[in-house]
Amino acid sequence: RGDRGDEPVEFFAPSLRREQDDRIALEAALVDAIAHDELEVHYQPVVAVGTGVLDGYEALVRWNRPGHGLLQPDAFVPVAEKSDLICALDRWVLHEAARQLVAWTEEDPIGAADLTVAVNVSGRHLASATIVADVAAALHSSGLRPERLTVEVTETVLVDVPRASLQMSALRRLGVSISIDDFGTGYTSIGHLGALPADILKIDRSLVMSTGPGATELLALIVQAGHAHGLLVVAEGVEQQQRLDDLRDLRYDSAQGYLFARPLAADDVRTTGPRR
Ligand code: C2E
Ligand code: CA
Ligand code: CA
Ligand code: CA
Repeated sequence: RGDRGDEPVEFFAPSLRREQDDRIALEAALVDAIAHDELEVHYQPVVAVGTGVLDGYEALVRWNRPGHGLLQPDAFVPVAEKSDLICALDRWVLHEAARQLVAWTEEDPIGAADLTVAVNVSGRHLASATIVADVAAALHSSGLRPERLTVEVTETVLVDVPRASLQMSALRRLGVSISIDDFGTGYTSIGHLGALPADILKIDRSLVMSTGPGATELLALIVQAGHAHGLLVVAEGVEQQQRLDDLRDLRYDSAQGYLFARPLAADDVRTTGPRR
């Protein structure tokens, strides 16, 4: 003990151990958080590019952790994704977002009747045996019509395409839409798009925000390929008016980003805006 040269394991072990303890503590706190409704869903508008009319929202989880403030997903979703805890988290968000959309529709039957909500589902949850039952239960308990719900699946989880495709097809049979999220960051090539049982292609913000040489040409190529495969194409991370103008010229269907609004707490959402 104390002679690090002889015992390198002794030197490294404590910090690894601490990291693991931290993760276990965070996991335990998150289990409680789900049980005690410390999670919140924030809603970011998705807007039709051609008309400026609101399509609906993406539901994004936050954790109002006592003593820690409002935690963003990158502080706890990756930890949840290491175990089946992510399935419980996704399930909670699914139920809450569906419930909220129905509540808004009841408050404003004309303004909010056609709005959709997109919910993120992690790869582990998509692959799980409960995903179809979980989505069906959220629809059933809220009374939300299935065509108003979109399930977003990150492109990077589509490594096992045959299995993911089966699950996505089963979800579509419920009547919900499937969106391929973060397109452009993973392995799926444009040529493989036709093989995926999806409805929407969501382009990652790294591509949308890029202004480097060829950036607009790449956005053009992707939207053409998406449309050729019958997909609606959505751009996320739209911050500049110029980018929105480009997307309109390129015939993108919808856009999401700080230009319209940041993710908003439910109380701050007005279901009739933004209309540009
Ligand atoms: P995502 O699904 O790609 O969500 C979009 C992220 O981009 C959100 O970050 C959003 O706030 C951010 N964003 C939107 N517009 C702009 C913009 O104009 N500029 C910039 N710079 N950023 C923009 P957020 O809310 O921090 O969420 C991060 C990630 O956490 C999400 O990425 C998603 O992968 C994950 N996540 C969020 N909620 C859930 C959930 O309920 N379940 C699961 N499994 N993952 C979730
Ligand atoms: Ca998403
Ligand atoms: Ca995304
Ligand atoms: Ca992302």
